Amino acid sequence: MAEKFCSIECPPECGFTVKSHDEEEVIDMAKKHAKDKHNMDITTEKLKSMMKKN
Ligand SMILES: [Zn+2]
Repeated sequence: MAEKFCSIECPPECGFTVKSHDEEEVIDMAKKHAKDKHNMDITTEKLKSMMKKN
């Protein structure tokens, strides 16, 4: 089985990208980032829809 990276990117204005083999880690880090930098609570579902797997 090939390992895949999961990644979530913020809009270019922000430039934040989180990338990991671990989907849960990506979601966790993106949630923290959204809270800290954007003062936003993003749901896991929303983050999953933003996530790219490659
Ligand atoms: Zn951001």
